[in-house]
Amino acid sequence: MSERHDAVEVIVAKRDGAELSDSQIDWVIDAYTRGEVADEQMSALAMAILLNGMDRREIARWTGAMIASGERMDFSSLSRPTADKHSTGGVGDKITLPLAPLVAACGVAVPQLSGRGLGHTGGTLDKLEAIPGWRAALSNEEMFAQLEDVGAVICAAGDGLAPADKKLYALRDVTGTVEAIPLIASSIMSKKIAEGTGALVLDVKVGTGAFMKDVDQARELAETMVGLGTDAGVHTVALLTDMSTPLGLTAGNGLEVAESVEVLAGGGPADVVELTVALAKEMLAGAGVSDVDPAEVLASGRAMDAWTQMIRAQDGDPEADLPTARHTHDVPAPATGVLTRLDAMAVGMAAWRLGAGRARKEDPVQAGAGVVWHARPGDQVTEGQPLFTLHTDDEHRFDRALASLEGGYDVDEGGSAFTPSALLIDRIS
Ligand code: URA
Repeated sequence: MSERHDAVEVIVAKRDGAELSDSQIDWVIDAYTRGEVADEQMSALAMAILLNGMDRREIARWTGAMIASGERMDFSSLSRPTADKHSTGGVGDKITLPLAPLVAACGVAVPQLSGRGLGHTGGTLDKLEAIPGWRAALSNEEMFAQLEDVGAVICAAGDGLAPADKKLYALRDVTGTVEAIPLIASSIMSKKIAEGTGALVLDVKVGTGAFMKDVDQARELAETMVGLGTDAGVHTVALLTDMSTPLGLTAGNGLEVAESVEVLAGGGPADVVELTVALAKEMLAGAGVSDVDPAEVLASGRAMDAWTQMIRAQDGDPEADLPTARHTHDVPAPATGVLTRLDAMAVGMAAWRLGAGRARKEDPVQAGAGVVWHARPGDQVTEGQPLFTLHTDDEHRFDRALASLEGGYDVDEGGSAFTPSALLIDRIS
């Protein structure tokens, strides 16, 4: 039971630039979760934190209080070590789909509690729900059994995990307070620490399609999260990766599942394979497994077997045809030359406007909607040949999607010397 405080006292302290005490933090998170601190009071406090920041002690305490607002899972009784990955969110980021079965096939269990997308970034659950029959909601018992039998679970986080974050995240979303590093770091890490993974790899995205537009901000977020994980006894590392260009060649739920299956079959776009293998190596190392090469396991087809088992275990049919959109529209390359820029935000907004994402939490998503791009920066394109194919069930969505793509790519007629930027930017441990 924490010492009693008053919401206005805590808001005023942070408004005036003071550090919050441990007991103020414990009280405000607990009282907010119970409904004693009102949404408007928590909104004011979130804005004061966005403007005045929090130091490392405050962020650690805030994270601990959010963990304590709910249940904590414990996988130590499993027969294999656990590792998880969290991405701060990007466009075309389907990496979890091939990564979880790949790491499972390498002998490490992956308990991946995921969310749905909001705005221009897609959510892993929305993608998997494109697979006929697949079920996101599992009980804790089902999750444990699947981790033991298959080694990988991707499912919805239950209401019991960090309920303070659930409430606070929804509030931040509508009060312009998502972008505060202390709030992002504590939100992500409270869920990952409560989830009980032994090792954690963070994929912190940088660029136009990411929360963090510049590398210094991304590094600060990564260092904050690695510090929180390490202090909580979770082996945590972060990779900073480029999100100025979308990943792979597709953005959209069913389209990204199909691309992930190509990767599991030993093909797929080189950048998706590169990031999947890089993250798998970090997860295995964090879990203490050093004698397995994930690139070899991917090539052997064993990751595909784990995928099939993982989808079947959640009532999905991995052999079923994926839903396709009713309408498609090609966008031709404007010139012959080298594609020198493909903006992640432009592509993400187009996919969202085509129906792949949602504007409000309760909106449905279209399983077949999205964008396919037929070239990546550095590739040669030919005037008049399709550069993008847009997919949607509602033809009226094409105009706004086309407007989002406008100005979002460059073709250079003399661009033969162009070198695309590297995907892996930095590693923080
Ligand atoms: N993802 C989260 O879970 N929380 C944030 O604050 C931002 C991204």
